[in-house]
Amino acid sequence: MQDQQPVGVLPRHLRQVRVERVEDWPDGVHIHAKIDTDEAACPACQATSRSVRERYQRRLADTPLGATPVWILLQVRRFNCLNTACSKRTFAEQVPDLTVPRGRRRQPRAAFPSLAEVPHR
Ligand SMILES: [Zn+2]
Repeated sequence: MQDQQPVGVLPRHLRQVRVERVEDWPDGVHIHAKIDTDEAACPACQATSRSVRERYQRRLADTPLGATPVWILLQVRRFNCLNTACSKRTFAEQVPDLTVPRGRRRQPRAAFPSLAEVPHR
């Protein structure tokens, strides 16, 4: 038996991140993930930066697995924008289709049909 979950069975929205571990907690399934890149682009000026200012965790509500809530605990980095002409001095990295600035629920939900829409046998 392998402990490692094959990457191919990860839901599509999680393939852009590195899933470090999955835990079963009383409040639901916790998927611990981080973004697997060295740099990020400033949303204001598009300049890339590798200068990490801080790291923190975001808790995103994912689509429930039946009655079980699913939480994505995503480690996010805040970068310094090194472009002195840019109005943003820092910015948080985002994952397309997974995070939106200051959003707690991943977007867009319409792209990922809920389990309720799958025909039941
Ligand atoms: Zn910038």
